[in-house]
Amino acid sequence: MNTNQSKNTPYALVLHGGSGAIFRKNMPPAKEAEYHAALNKALDAGETVLKANGTAMNAVVAAIKVLEDDPLFNAGKGAVFTNEATNELAASLMDGEKLNAGAICGVTNIKNPITAAQAVLEKSNHVLLAGKGAEQFAKEMDLALVDPSYFWAEHRWKGLALAKAKELETGYVEQLEFNDWKYGTVGCVALDKNGNLAAGTSTGGMTNKRYNRIGDTPIIGAGCYADNNTCAVSSTGHGEYFIRYAVAHDISARMAYLKEDLATAANHVIHKKLVTAGGRGGVIAVDKNGNIAMPHNTEGMYRAFVNPTERGVGIFKED
Ligand code: ASP
Repeated sequence: MNTNQSKNTPYALVLHGGSGAIFRKNMPPAKEAEYHAALNKALDAGETVLKANGTAMNAVVAAIKVLEDDPLFNAGKGAVFTNEATNELAASLMDGEKLNAGAICGVTNIKNPITAAQAVLEKSNHVLLAGKGAEQFAKEMDLALVDPSYFWAEHRWKGLALAKAKELETGYVEQLEFNDWKYGTVGCVALDKNGNLAAGTSTGGMTNKRYNRIGDTPIIGAGCYADNNTCAVSSTGHGEYFIRYAVAHDISARMAYLKEDLATAANHVIHKKLVTAGGRGGVIAVDKNGNIAMPHNTEGMYRAFVNPTERGVGIFKED
């Protein structure tokens, strides 16, 4: 997919479904087709909002809800398991017009975490709510709540067993390597017809995580950032690095201070800074002219984009 376009499009939407050691040789064609169908469905949901003059924020939420509902991805249903065999979810949303943001983390019963992030942004005085408090807020906002068993998916359950077996062999390891059983975080960025940008991200975190570990996804500036003056960014990868390097904000800051274009800024952070640090992952990003970037330093990243004249879906490095 050509990611270095120079454009002026009335709207654009980009999404990701996680990054990692994703190789074509390991993926049966039927599975690849399933991913393409899911990413296209999410693109459609987001584009429908943008075509109808909806806001970038509503488009991002619509697209992310589709991915959260699909067990293929590590967000909402199909989230990865913690060491205690539970699902702890997180999501964030940012509006590039007013720099408003909302996020939740460590929740176990909110069906669509991105809707809770939107409620925090629109209906609270806060930015980040955690655990029981976030769940109480979601209940008061009349958001859909589910029994935690709703999030269960067989491949994630097997993933936890695999992670624990590996841990027995090698001792406790932070999840440095990206293997089959843990990627699938989702994210979306959009530019609407009014020139506003928005970014959102949603995840189950990393398989076998302990101690209420929180990753980059709900951290504004790390897992998500949007500013109409620069760009909107959503991250996926080894969250600890994305927090330490404030990845999403760093891309925006390079555009603001160094006057870099989107692709230059995003490539520098993902392919230089993070690679030097040893952090694996990628981002999707869009600027106010509809230029998009989807750099990743992993073998693959589920990704897709749409604007009025083009649409693309890719998974592997060579796509
Ligand atoms: N960034 C997420 C986290 O660290 C994981 C991912 O993107 O796969 O929780």
